[in-house]
Parts: sequence; structure tokens; C-alpha cells
Amino acid sequence: MALAAVERQAGPGAIQRQATLQIKGVHDLVADTARDYYAILGVGREATAEEIKRAYRKLARELHPDVNPDVGAQERFKAVTAAYEVLSDPEKRRVVDLGGDPLSSGGGGAGNPFGGFGSFGDVFEAFFGGATPGGRGPRSRARQGADALLRMELSLAEAAFGVRRDIAVDTAVVCATCNGKGCAPGTSPQTCATCGGAGEIQSVQRSFLGQVLTTRPCTSCAGTGQQILTPCPTCGTEGRVRSRRTITVDVPAGIEDGMRIRLTGQAEVGPGGGPAGDLYIEVHETQHETFTRDGADLHCTVALPMTAAALGTDLVLTTLDGEEKLDIRPGTQAGNVITLRGKGVPRLRSSARGDLLVHVEVRTPTRLDETQERLLRELAELRNEEVAVGSVRGGLFSKMRDALGGNR
Ligand SMILES: [Zn+2]
Ligand SMILES: [Zn+2]
Repeated sequence: MALAAVERQAGPGAIQRQATLQIKGVHDLVADTARDYYAILGVGREATAEEIKRAYRKLARELHPDVNPDVGAQERFKAVTAAYEVLSDPEKRRVVDLGGDPLSSGGGGAGNPFGGFGSFGDVFEAFFGGATPGGRGPRSRARQGADALLRMELSLAEAAFGVRRDIAVDTAVVCATCNGKGCAPGTSPQTCATCGGAGEIQSVQRSFLGQVLTTRPCTSCAGTGQQILTPCPTCGTEGRVRSRRTITVDVPAGIEDGMRIRLTGQAEVGPGGGPAGDLYIEVHETQHETFTRDGADLHCTVALPMTAAALGTDLVLTTLDGEEKLDIRPGTQAGNVITLRGKGVPRLRSSARGDLLVHVEVRTPTRLDETQERLLRELAELRNEEVAVGSVRGGLFSKMRDALGGNR
């Protein structure tokens, strides 16, 4: 199986960017004067969608021009309708809650702050609970399958050099009995008797708003315009069955923790034989006992006795490529970094490799016995270091006792 794509997971950065853009939009809106839509409807800012709808219905019954010919009432009816239009739409309500006014910047709101009667869909919805006028016709029985996400644990070496893994996937596949049609072999779906194949039912209702044509999806056929009279014996009418199968995943060399591999069309098929969703494999790299990874570079720490650092030595380090001789030069300092070029991790989709960086720590001996202490003191004397002298950022300082002595 070929890899369709390897992509970095949408991290906090992506979310941040999105949030920033939205906030910028809101600032544009804040420049206009914001109306208090909550006050217009007489509801609190924490009102539920149902409470907002109820408040609007109550006010509309009082203020509708058919009921209340007062000019002031008509103005209020427009304002109340605009407020309902805004607060019943979660996106617009969010803008209001952020201090903006979705009706006062651009679009249909400009020049006609209350949007006139252009957005009657919301008003119909409030009274009749149905869809807006103007249906979309029958919808297809077949629908896109959902995407799926699986985690895969990889060792550092597997992530570095790539690996081929078989994974078991429990997912929906097209029903072999009916080929996804959902009806018994030899039969076919019938035109829905309730809606005549339109997938929706229109009805005319009389109200104080006048005659209202509403359209709602047909419940007999779930809006598909077709009915299955003899369901498939294997899947019912779903057109798909659950199945466990094994797929082989080629993990590319250089993949990193948190990246996702997309296997196009390998997740579940949709109802009615709809196209399958994509399967994402999210890679999690287990911590290596020696190395930490930073992109294509690897880091590790080697602790040396003070004497080995001073005298130099050879070490054997087990890298991703096997054993490597590590040459510790005489006079190696704590904090020195030894770089093994090209011994890091291969870069994704490249033949280049990162480096392996060995950080040196020097261990100062503790709990010296008499002989060791005497030898160290002799060494200090030979090196003219018996009066302890250290250096701080290139300058010299001596022990406090000597400094005080010098001042007397
Ligand atoms: Zn129908
Ligand atoms: Zn079937």
C-alpha cells in the first residue's frame, strides 16, 4: 500500500492562527456601535436557544404589524426580529458575545441595519420548526464514510529508518450480499409513496404572517425519496457490515512523534455504499534509553571520571548504526560536545541524516581515601594549584581567606 501523505498534526500553532484571524474580524465589527440584542429580546446573556426562541415568539405575537398597527410597534418588531436572527445563529451570537455586531458590517446589514424581511428563514423556523422554503430535493442514500484515527507506537530506530507494520482495523466495509444497495438481491428500492420521490414534503400553513409554505424532509424515506421494501438479509438497509481486516502500513524513514500518515479510503465505507473515509495513523515514538531526538539530530550524555577527561580515553557507544568508537581527547572539559556527523536520524523523504551529539559530563571524585587525597594534593602542588584558584568568565579569583589576608 502506498502512502498518500505524511503531514504534521495541526498543532497549537494552527489553532492560534485561526483564533487570531477570527479575533481580527471581530475587532472590525467592534468599530461599529453594537446593539444589545439580548436586551431587545429581554433575555439574559446565558439564555438557551429555546429561551431565545420563546422570548421572540412572545414578542412577535405582541408586535406583529397584523396584530399591532402602531408605528412604534412595527419598528420594535423589526428590531426584535433582527435580534432573534442574530441570537438564534450560534456564529452570529458568538460575535455578539465577543462584543461585536454581526449586522453592522458589510453584507446585507449595511444600509438596512435590521436586514428587513430578507432572512425570513429564521422566523419560519421559530414558528414552525421546519426547514426554510425552497428544498434541495431528495438526498442520496449513499453517504461518505467517517475518517478514523489510530495510534501507532514506534521505537526510535523504527521511526528513524522506517518500518512495515501490519495493523488490524475493525471497520465498516461494503456489504457483499447487496453491494451496498441495502436491499435483498433481485430487488431494488422503490419510489417513496409518501413523498413521491421528492424526499421532502411541502405544506401550507396559515398564520398572522400570511400563508407560509414550509418544506421538511420526508420521514418515511429519511429524505432519500426511496424506500427499501425488502431489506438485505445481511446488513438490513445499511449497505455495509463491520469487518476486521489487516492492512499493511509502510512507515517512512524519518517520521516524527505526532505526525500522521493518511491512508486514503481505508477507513469505514459510508451508509448505502458511500465512499470510504480516510484512515489516519498517528505516530508515537517511545523514549529511547540513551538518545533524545531533536528533529533529525540525536543527543546523549556521557559521564567521564575527572581522570579520564584529563588523560583522554576511548569509549564504545552503541548508536542506531551499531557500535561507534568515541575518541575522548586528553583535556576534555565538562560541557564539551562531540559530534558524530551523519549518525542521527534520516530526514523525512531525503537521504540526508542528522548528527549524533555527545554531551560530556565530568564527574569530580567524592569520598577520597587518604592515599587518593594525598595524591591529589601532590598533583595540585605540582600544578601550582595548592592555593585554590578558579576562574570566573576569564577573570581570576582566589579563595576568600587569601583575599582577606591580602587586605590586611
Ligand atoms: Zn419519502
Ligand atoms: Zn447488504
